[in-house]
Amino acid sequence: MKIYIDGKYYDKDDAKVSVFDHGVLYGDGIFEGIRAYNGRIFRLEDHLQRLEESANAILLKLPIPIKEIEKAIIETVRLNGLKDAYIRLVVTRGVGDLGLDMRKCKAGATLFIIADRIELYPEEFYEKGLTVITSTIRQKGLDQVTPGVKSLNYLANILARAEATAAGAQEAILLNATGHVSECSGDNIFYIKAGKIFTPPTSAGILVGVTRNVVMELCEKKLGNKVIERNFPRYDLYSADEVFLTGTGAEVISAVKIDGRVIGKGTCGPTTKNLIKHFRDYANSSGTPVYEAVKAK
Ligand SMILES: *Cc1c(COP(=O)(O)O)cnc(C)c1O
Repeated sequence: MKIYIDGKYYDKDDAKVSVFDHGVLYGDGIFEGIRAYNGRIFRLEDHLQRLEESANAILLKLPIPIKEIEKAIIETVRLNGLKDAYIRLVVTRGVGDLGLDMRKCKAGATLFIIADRIELYPEEFYEKGLTVITSTIRQKGLDQVTPGVKSLNYLANILARAEATAAGAQEAILLNATGHVSECSGDNIFYIKAGKIFTPPTSAGILVGVTRNVVMELCEKKLGNKVIERNFPRYDLYSADEVFLTGTGAEVISAVKIDGRVIGKGTCGPTTKNLIKHFRDYANSSGTPVYEAVKAK
């Protein structure tokens, strides 16, 4: 495996960052999780745009221009010879002293890119659906730091996921301060009721997923069913016909049991099944080419 760090490629065992990096000391940084299908990077522009917006929101100057980051991502996948890949891109504040002052991180941000094989939920989860619980941990409020930023401050999500695991579930729902459903620990959430599809709005404190946006497009274009963004309580999930989650890793996946309640018929419903198919077709037939790109340039 070859890992990109600040312009150089390292073997896995040699790929290291400093203990003085503020990404390590304070979780001061941002990341993206990106996938490649069939030798093409899925929705790369969307991920790069979110990266720029996240960087801007936390006053972080990207160490190289976004076009160079794009090239580095493509090159990392290419060097590792991957066709289907999960790509993790991280930008930290960089090496500073032990204080909080970001001006002390004089060398600038650290950028690293890992391209690995994808670790998916087993296929049976796509057919049978996931078990989900509501976490006791609340989504960060809109008045708190970095809502909407894909930041390295992931402790709430990690602890929520641990609650899910302890309860024998695969995912955890985070409610926001007003008790509305926001999202899961690493996925956005949708439900279907009487032919209508709903998802929480950005004002629910969600991380606006690239997959969420793709699924909203597919619902409109392929199903002729425009997704309605609105705030809703947990009750709406319990009484839904279908609930599904979206994320780069999980793609589109059904949630069939929530807090012990069976959702709909207790199995992946017809609309979710249809969406999974449309999503996979689209993911496998679009994206930025990894291998032809070298020739083209
Ligand atoms: C990354 C992420 C998502 C899903 O976003 P995608 O771009 O679809 O992968 C949802 N929630 C959280 C908290 C995330 O970090």
